[in-house]
Amino acid sequence: MAEKNYYDILGVNKNASDDEIKKAYRSLAKKYHPDLNPGNAEAAEKLKQVNEAYSVLSDKTKRQNYDTYGNENGPQGFGGSGFGGFGSGFGGFSSGDFSDFGDIFSNIFGGAFGGGSSRRSRRAEQTQGSDIQVKMKLSFAEAAFGCRKSVNLTRTETCSYCNGSGAKNGTEISTCSRCKGSGTIRQTQNTLFGQVVSESVCPDCHGTGKMIKEKCPHCGGSGVTRQNRTIELNIPGGVDNDQVLTLRGQGEAGRNGGPNGDIQILIQIEPHKLLKREGYDVYVDVPITFTEALLGAKVKIPGINETIELTIPELTQSGTILTVKGKGVKILNKNSYGDLYAKIIIELPKSLDRSSKQLIQELDSGISKNQYSRKKSFNDKL
Ligand SMILES: [Zn+2]
Ligand SMILES: [Zn+2]
Repeated sequence: MAEKNYYDILGVNKNASDDEIKKAYRSLAKKYHPDLNPGNAEAAEKLKQVNEAYSVLSDKTKRQNYDTYGNENGPQGFGGSGFGGFGSGFGGFSSGDFSDFGDIFSNIFGGAFGGGSSRRSRRAEQTQGSDIQVKMKLSFAEAAFGCRKSVNLTRTETCSYCNGSGAKNGTEISTCSRCKGSGTIRQTQNTLFGQVVSESVCPDCHGTGKMIKEKCPHCGGSGVTRQNRTIELNIPGGVDNDQVLTLRGQGEAGRNGGPNGDIQILIQIEPHKLLKREGYDVYVDVPITFTEALLGAKVKIPGINETIELTIPELTQSGTILTVKGKGVKILNKNSYGDLYAKIIIELPKSLDRSSKQLIQELDSGISKNQYSRKKSFNDKL
């Protein structure tokens, strides 16, 4: 059971040249650079591992020792290996190519570390609670104008009886005797490669460094409890499909004093029967009869939350778009609205009887050919 494989950490094979090692290190260090991962404890831990691996594999003697004995110091075991801080040797990251890391990472964290318990970890760190993802279906109008919603969810919360300490109220918390408060224990193993010292999380205190004399009866000493909660939400008008609303600090409880996760709400909008939304504007196709197009009319069209009477001027061409100002979606975080666009589609009757045909022919003979400017210009170009 290898505690850590520096080659795997850097994603190179055992015969890698100095240049390959350097290259792998630089791109991983870039990937996990704190500037690119602000507040990300996992990235910081990975960067630490990458630095450690590189400090060994980039040094000829250390690498040889590591290859031969499984550690960088030779057969006598580990001294404090104190590798220096980050940032030696390269500066000024260009925002270059950060892709293609998937394989390397699944290698490191899937394979070599065998299930996490052997993963190098100095002590229980403050960790942020996980985020909770919730899908929320909204009607077209709810999304357009906002609404109040409630979500039911179960989340871990810091135990209110012990304030997350895990100790029964008023009882003592002492230093763990097994790890003497460090949260980690060292184990020496004899392997094919020599003596290997590994560090792992103390099983008695689970890395906290503390021992609880009497566990809190409400959380069983874990410091957190599962709670069913109904969260009331104000969905702002103007949210769009696939948008995510974040409720900061409302997710799973953090551990060891770390911050809570968030609740992320994924918005899904049910389509409207007639309206189509684009941004804050809405569109509707409005069929009118050819007589309405010729003589003008008042027709009813759908608004988001109402029926709107639309005036069709006489002689409205097919394809004309009429604008109804302010009848669109509420603009997010503003007190104004998008517009509604009604596209006029002229519909002809399916059939005509003999007398209607006659009347239309009479009608047509009363209209000069010059009245049809598009048809005229079309014919002129023929
Ligand atoms: Zn408790
Ligand atoms: Zn301990």
